[in-house]
Amino acid sequence: MAPEKILVIEDNPANMQLFCDILRAEGYLVFQSSTAQEGLKSALENGPYLILLDIQLPGMDGFAVLSELKAHSLTREIPVVALTSYAMQGDEERALATGFNAYITKPIDTRAFRKFVRELMEKHKGSLRKHA
Ligand code: MN
Repeated sequence: MAPEKILVIEDNPANMQLFCDILRAEGYLVFQSSTAQEGLKSALENGPYLILLDIQLPGMDGFAVLSELKAHSLTREIPVVALTSYAMQGDEERALATGFNAYITKPIDTRAFRKFVRELMEKHKGSLRKHA
């Protein structure tokens, strides 16, 4: 079976490295983008099962990226998790209110993060398969 694809859109190199290390160790095929534009392109090209999307991106923030993803028929159904910062409280509520499936607050607890992603992938498996 092909590995499940996850796209991470995150501009902080240290965070990106940490997310990718954990997800790859879990056996996922990880695509990484450090800008909104690259991320949108990668979502269309690679058809990930799940997208982890940083809210604080330069230029175009995570909320704007989510709108673009939801506006496109090829990416509309992909579950998107907001990566919010502990320092930016309020982003969590806004993320859920604007259509993100869930959020993860940084800095992350690596163990909880692994469990969270695994459970989310399980939960969305039915709908994800159709888009594989
Ligand atoms: Mn950021």
